[in-house]
Amino acid sequence: MDFGYSPKVEALRTRVRNFMDDHILPRVRQWHEEVHAGKYPVSFMEDLKALARSEGLWNLFLPHLKEDEPGTRLTNLEYAPLAEIMGRIGWASEAFNCSAPDTGNMELLHMFATPQQREDWLLPLLHGKIRSAFAMTEPDVASSDATNITTLVQRDGNDYVINGRKWFITNAAHPHCRIFILMGKTDPDAPPHKQQSMILVPRDTPGVDVVRNVNIMNHHSPEGHCEIVFRNVRVPATNLLGEEGSGFALAQARLGPGRIHHCMRSIGAAELALELMVERSQERKTFGKHLHQHGTVAEWIARSRIEIDQARLLVLKTAWMIDHVGAKAARKEIAMIKALVPSLHTTVCERAMQTFGAMGISPDTPLADHWTWGRALRLADGPDEVHLRSIASMEIKQSQETLGATAAYLTPPARL
Ligand SMILES: Cc1cc2nc3c(=O)[nH]c(=O)nc-3n(C[C@H](O)[C@H](O)[C@H](O)COP(=O)(O)OP(=O)(O)OC[C@H]3O[C@@H](n4cnc5c(N)ncnc54)[C@H](O)[C@@H]3O)c2cc1C
Repeated sequence: MDFGYSPKVEALRTRVRNFMDDHILPRVRQWHEEVHAGKYPVSFMEDLKALARSEGLWNLFLPHLKEDEPGTRLTNLEYAPLAEIMGRIGWASEAFNCSAPDTGNMELLHMFATPQQREDWLLPLLHGKIRSAFAMTEPDVASSDATNITTLVQRDGNDYVINGRKWFITNAAHPHCRIFILMGKTDPDAPPHKQQSMILVPRDTPGVDVVRNVNIMNHHSPEGHCEIVFRNVRVPATNLLGEEGSGFALAQARLGPGRIHHCMRSIGAAELALELMVERSQERKTFGKHLHQHGTVAEWIARSRIEIDQARLLVLKTAWMIDHVGAKAARKEIAMIKALVPSLHTTVCERAMQTFGAMGISPDTPLADHWTWGRALRLADGPDEVHLRSIASMEIKQSQETLGATAAYLTPPARL
């Protein structure tokens, strides 16, 4: 495994960083002003998208695009350092058509859409014409165990009829959101992992009711994390994605790349927080010393550097594994980064906020927003504990192949 950035990646990093510096960073204030004024999507987003596309910085995440599909065709390993740069500003990835949950949805459609589904939904997504949402979590059941999902997707003639309630559905308030990929139960009598299916539900289908946009840590996200009621929602049977009962398999396929993209962006957010902390600690003095000359702050800086570099290497290893052996074989690494990186994200932001004093938790730095998002990521795409559980059970399973092999290392006193 070689994680050095190739000349191609170095050149792309320069281009993405220049784009961020020249076109996105100067718009951060305006983004906040427009969003606070209720103007969303912001007035300049379509121009930014057109510019990024014209510069070849478009759909940077999908390695296996077909000839007629726009994008850059980078491997996950090549994409990781670019997503990291985008992660420095929460909304930046939309300009490159690389934002969640669209990326995961595009990956899913790319793998499983029928030719008609590809025409209707994947191509508009790849061209940045529409946005999408992924609807799995439900308020009434513990959704970190997807076997609990209760939304019914029942066959009726040539249609499916959907009834249920979802929440925390990211992007559902985005005015350009046109399609939901919904997970629901097609066969309650099948074995637990064959009961669920995924189905495409156009946003404007009668019976789809977005009842509220749920705030995250009291922050309002304009794209939304929404509660949605599906009441007798009727869609053609051809809207089924993959086979009936394949919902679990599809969810696994979707969440691999989706999770790694979040982690890559989190590394970027943590790196920015460290840069801010390092600069601030050299500007301010207390008790006759610069802040970095106090042992505690110096330790925060040092620990942040160590932890970010460790996490980045694990993310790159995971990206390499997805590229070389596939998301299924990389599932332990994917769980490891998902359990590790959101905590790192919040820990480094936390230290940086403290170094800034009261300003650190004000809107005058990006730290509070980044901290909040890092905290949310400890739940989004599954809570830390579920990923830790998966890692532990894979370790236990693996150890059973050689159970007893460590006995030679034990040196209990000889029994008398
Ligand atoms: C910002 C944000 C965006 C989101 N976007 C989406 C989206 O677009 N689409 C979507 O479908 N969902 C989305 N979600 C929902 C998210 O995926 C769920 O919240 C998550 O899977 C947990 O489900 P739950 O909230 O029902 O918690 P529950 O399943 O009720 O779990 C509660 C807690 O129980 C503990 N727990 C659970 N299992 C175990 C275990 N095995 N071992 C130890 N402890 C355990 C964990 O601490 C967990 O937090 C989003 C959430 C957030 C915060």
